[in-house]
Order: sequence, then C-alpha cells, then structure tokens
Amino acid sequence: MTIREKILVVEDEKSISTLIATILNNTGYEVMKARTGSEALSMISSHCPDLIVLDLGLPDMDGLDILRQIRSWSTLPVVVVSARSHERDKVTALELGADDYLTKPFGTDELVARIRTAIRHTRTTSPNNEIAQKGTYTVGELTIDYNKHQVLLRGENAKLTLSEFRIVALLGKHAGKVLTYDYIIKELWGPRAGGDNQILRVNMANIRRKIEKNPAEPEYLFTEVGVGYRMAEGN
Ligand code: CA
Repeated sequence: MTIREKILVVEDEKSISTLIATILNNTGYEVMKARTGSEALSMISSHCPDLIVLDLGLPDMDGLDILRQIRSWSTLPVVVVSARSHERDKVTALELGADDYLTKPFGTDELVARIRTAIRHTRTTSPNNEIAQKGTYTVGELTIDYNKHQVLLRGENAKLTLSEFRIVALLGKHAGKVLTYDYIIKELWGPRAGGDNQILRVNMANIRRKIEKNPAEPEYLFTEVGVGYRMAEGN
C-alpha cells in the first residue's frame, strides 16, 4: 500500500470495535474509533477519513440516519457492518448509498476484502481522473508521483492520506492556477458535495503540516483568501 488510508470505525460495542480496529491496523490502515453517531459525524468533518465502517445500532441514533447525512454531501465510501440481517435493512442501506453491507458475525478476510474493494472503487470512479494521471510533477523539493500515488519531499514519502493526496494531485495538475474551493470540493467529493469548506480546510492544514517547512508561510500550496488554493509552478 503506497498511501495509508484512514478508516473510521463507528461501533458502540467495545469488543467488536477493538476487533475491527486490530484487523485493520494489522492490514496497514490507520484507524480511528467513534462510539456514537454524533461522535462519528464530528470526527468525519474534523478528521476526513477515507472510509467508514458503520454499525447500524448505535446508542444515540440509527446508523441509517448517519449514512443519509453523509450522503447528503459526500461520496465517502461506507461499509455497513450490522447484526441486522433482514433483507429490508440491507436494501435500505444500499439504496441510501452504502458501498457494501456485511452481516455480523463476519470473517476477518471478508471484512478486509470488502474494504479494499470499496476503496479501489472510489479511486476508479472518482469524478475526475486526477489520480489516474501518469508521470510526476516537481516543484522545489516536492514531487507528486502520479504513478505511485505518493507525494515526496526531498525524496521521502510525505505519507499523505488518500484524501490529502487527491487534493495535492488535483492542484498539481493545474499548477499555477487558482482552483476555487467549490471546484475542488466538487471534483474530489462529487457533484452532490455541499459548499462546506471545512473538510477541505482540515485536509489542507494536515497537508501543509506534512509538506511545508512553515505552514503559515507556504512554499508549495498557497491560499487565495476567500477564493481557493493554488499550487506553486514547477521550475
Ligand atoms: Ca451496536
């Protein structure tokens, strides 16, 4: 795996949550955990996971309502893991836009396989082909490697998450040009994505921490206040 994807596990039963987290950690994913629906929603906007594993029976709200909320602004992959085995629940979840549905108890290999598929699917159906682009883009000490899906800083992998990489990849493709917040959000999260800039801002802050010497005075990714972002032009 060239990029460590961040997965948010939304599950109130501690033993199951720990089990899923351990499996995913061992597979090489970065894992975050939420125990309630409200915790999940706030972590989604503050931490920008690349995929969500969602339990339906949560203490404060129904997982299907969380799914509905996520789908109102995002195409973020969601794999539902639930004890509910009714066909009706399954169909509802898939109709609401879940990428997959696993019934508890599930096998370790099965969970990992479904998650891999859901992530691969987002990559290949991403609304634009910014990460399918080939070759590299270099500016200063920074290189975007479109083949390996990596951003290198002085030859070292900057270890961006999938969302972070996609933002940098898109800006790199249009280096020197200002891309508006709205354009970036629609390109990366799909036409249904709302005008909420928060996810983008949080991702950008994380990216700058990883690639800029001084995030307050960036050399690579510039903010055009109130408009959008621009990638520095290559040498
Ligand atoms: Ca539960």
